[in-house]
Amino acid sequence: MSRFFSEKYRALTPYTPGEQPTERQYIKLNTNESPFPPSEKAMTAAAEAAGQLQLYPDPTCRELTAAVAALCGVSAEEVLMTNGSDEILNFAFMAFCDDAHPAVFPDITYGFYKVFAELNGVPYRTVPLREDLSVDPADFYNADGTVFIANPNAPTGLVLSVAEVEEILRHNPNNVVVIDEAYVDFGAESCVPLIRKYDNLLVTQTFSKSRSMAGARLGFGVGQASLINDLNTVKYSTNPYNINRLTMAAGLGTLADEAYTRENCRTIMRTRESTTATLRGLGFELADSHTNFLFAKHPAVGGEQLYKQLKARGILVRHFAQPRIADYVRITVGSETEMQALVGALREIVEEC
Ligand SMILES: *Cc1c(COP(=O)(O)O)cnc(C)c1O
Repeated sequence: MSRFFSEKYRALTPYTPGEQPTERQYIKLNTNESPFPPSEKAMTAAAEAAGQLQLYPDPTCRELTAAVAALCGVSAEEVLMTNGSDEILNFAFMAFCDDAHPAVFPDITYGFYKVFAELNGVPYRTVPLREDLSVDPADFYNADGTVFIANPNAPTGLVLSVAEVEEILRHNPNNVVVIDEAYVDFGAESCVPLIRKYDNLLVTQTFSKSRSMAGARLGFGVGQASLINDLNTVKYSTNPYNINRLTMAAGLGTLADEAYTRENCRTIMRTRESTTATLRGLGFELADSHTNFLFAKHPAVGGEQLYKQLKARGILVRHFAQPRIADYVRITVGSETEMQALVGALREIVEEC
C-alpha cells in the first residue's frame, strides 16, 4: 500500500475472482463460464463494429436496451444496460444504500455484495441461511435496509420461488429489494414480471453465463422507471459510455439468436442432471442445482483436498475457505467431455482416500 492510498479504502478487502491461470491448460470449471462459444451472430456483429471504434458508443445504448426490454416484456425506460451485472449491483449499492439503509444479504452468497458495501462505505448485515443452506424468505421480511438476494443463490445453487420473492417484496414496501438473477436461465423462473406490482424491486441479469459473453462484460437491471432513473443518475456520474461498441454489437447479435442461447441452456441442464446423478453414485452429497454449477461435498474428502487433487489433475474448481461451506467445491457444468474428465478424476480421488 502506498502512503497516498485514501483512508477510506485502506481497510478494503477486494473481491477475489476465480483463478484465470496461464501457466498450463486447465479444464476450467471454476468461474461458471459457458463451455459454448458466443453466437456466430455476436461474433460477426462485433467484428463489424470494430470498424467504428474511433467513435464513442451510444451512451443511451438505445438499440440494445430496446432489445432487452422486448426480451423481458417491459418497456425501455424500465431497463438499464451495464458493464457486467457487477456494475448494476455496484450502482444499486451506490443509489439505494446508506447509513439509514444498510445492505442486507445472506451470510453465504455472492462474495461481491460485501465488497460493494465496504467500497461504498455502507453498513451491512448478513442473515444466516438455514441449516440446509436455503434462504428462509421470512428472515428478510421488514429488513430495515436494502435487500440483496441472488436467486438462484450462489454458490449453493438453491432457488426461491417467485411467490416467496413476492412475499419478501410485500413485507418490505419501504426497502429496495434487489434480486440477482445471474443464473435464472438455467431452469428458474424470473421475478421480472413482479416489477409491474412492486416499485421497490430491481432485478439484475447478465450475459456472462447463459449467453457465453463473460469476456464482453454485459449485464442489466430491470425495475420501474423511477428506480432505473436513479441508477442512470449514478451511471452518468461515473461512466456514461459504460457499454463499449464491440459489446453492444455482440449483445444485439446474441439476442438475434435466442434459439442458440435456449439450446445451450437445455444442453447444460441435461449435463447438470446426468452429472448430479453420477456424482451421487460416487458418494457425493449435492442438492438439485438450478444453475450452471454444482455445489458438492463428499463424506470422506474435504473441500480443500478435492480442489487441490482436481487441480493436480488439470481441473480447476472453486473452493471457498469459509465457515459452513469449507467442505464443498463449486463445479461449473461444462461440456459433456469436460464432465467426463471431471467424473474420472473424482472417481480416482475418492478411491484413493
Ligand atoms: C457471475 C455473477 C454475477 C456477475 O456477473 P457479471 O459477469 O458481472 O455479469 C453476479 N451475480 C452472481 C451471483 C454471479 O454469479
